[in-house]
Amino acid sequence: MPAKLSKQWTAAELAIVRRDWPKGISASNIARQLPGRSKSAVVGLVHREGIVRTVPPAPRTKRDRPAPRTGLSRSQIATEGNLAKKIMHHRQPAPAPRPAKREKPKPYTGPTVAFDDLTRDGCRWPVTDDKPYRFCSGKAQPGSPYCAEHARRSVRTGGGE
Ligand SMILES: [Zn+2]
Repeated sequence: MPAKLSKQWTAAELAIVRRDWPKGISASNIARQLPGRSKSAVVGLVHREGIVRTVPPAPRTKRDRPAPRTGLSRSQIATEGNLAKKIMHHRQPAPAPRPAKREKPKPYTGPTVAFDDLTRDGCRWPVTDDKPYRFCSGKAQPGSPYCAEHARRSVRTGGGE
């Protein structure tokens, strides 16, 4: 703080600071009552004089700082009963998004065959996720083990499941 020599505080000014500071009035509000005195001058005086607050400073306009972590404000935590439940309910976080997964193709609904029943030009796309695997058996494209649709899918997904 600049140690500029300020004017001597008058008894009247001191009285105001001594009266208002303990009440929790802010330094800037006190300074406003003291022409020519700045907020920091008031703070400096308070420290020099050892004037202590007996009342905590008035709360700022924003009363409810969000309580840390819980995501609920203090008033909400204090609220009991249905209202609280309601709030809790509404505040339930959305289910965590799944890790980006390859888009699952629509379940295959056409005819399927077991591996042993696959014809030579039957599409070998497995349409089941578990054993016993069943296969699409649609007409395979020339030069491909898959039918037209599954050939497209195998390209898109890089070789199927
Ligand atoms: Zn197929």
